[in-house]
Amino acid sequence: MTNILYIYDNNLYVNLTNQCPCRCTFCIRSQKNGLGSSDNLWLEHTPTAHEVIAAFKKYSLSDFEQVIFCGYGEPLCALDELISVCNYIRSISDIKIRLNTNGLGDLINCKPTAPLLKGVVDAVSISLNAPDAAKYLQVTRPSFGAGAFESMLKFAQECKQYIPEVKFSVVDVISKEDILACQNLADRMDIPLRVRHFNS
Ligand code: SF4
Repeated sequence: MTNILYIYDNNLYVNLTNQCPCRCTFCIRSQKNGLGSSDNLWLEHTPTAHEVIAAFKKYSLSDFEQVIFCGYGEPLCALDELISVCNYIRSISDIKIRLNTNGLGDLINCKPTAPLLKGVVDAVSISLNAPDAAKYLQVTRPSFGAGAFESMLKFAQECKQYIPEVKFSVVDVISKEDILACQNLADRMDIPLRVRHFNS
C-alpha cells in the first residue's frame, strides 16, 4: 500500500489516516500537490498497524531525525494504530517521535487520550488555530461544534503531564491581532507557540 510514509526535510512522516473531524479553512488536503517525497497522500484505505509497520521496514530510521505523525488526516482518529506503530518504532530505534494533532483526540475517541500517549510519543504539536471558541469554530469547522475548543485546550493541558515536549501552532491565515491573542493564551498555559506560514 502506498502513501503511508513520506520524507520531508530530514524527517520520516506517517500519513496514518485520511479521517478528520475538522474542515480547516487552510487545510492542504484540497490542494492537488502532495507533500515532501509524496505526490499524493490520499490512502486507498486506512492502513492497519501491520501495513504501516511493513512500510517502515523499507526505511532505515538512522537516516532521519524524527518520525512525525502528520498527513492528510488526524492521527488520533487511528489511536490504536498510532500506539502500535510507536511501540514498534521504540522496539527498533530511539528516534524522536512527534505527533501533530488537532487536539480533539478526546472527542474523537470518547475518552481522555493524553495519558495513553505517555511513553508513546516524545513530542506533540497541537493546532491551536484561534484564540477563542467562536473563532475556532470559524477556522476549523469541527464536526463536534461548540465545545471543541475547550476540549482541545484540556487535552493540551493534560499532555504536559505525560509528554516531554508540548507545543501549540497557529497558521498565519488568521489576523495579527488573533495571533497575538493566541500567544497570550499559550503563555498563560505555559505552552510554546509556533506560528506557521501558510503552505510551510
Ligand atoms: S485538522 Fe488538519 S487534516 Fe483536519 S481539516 Fe484541519 S488541517 Fe486538515
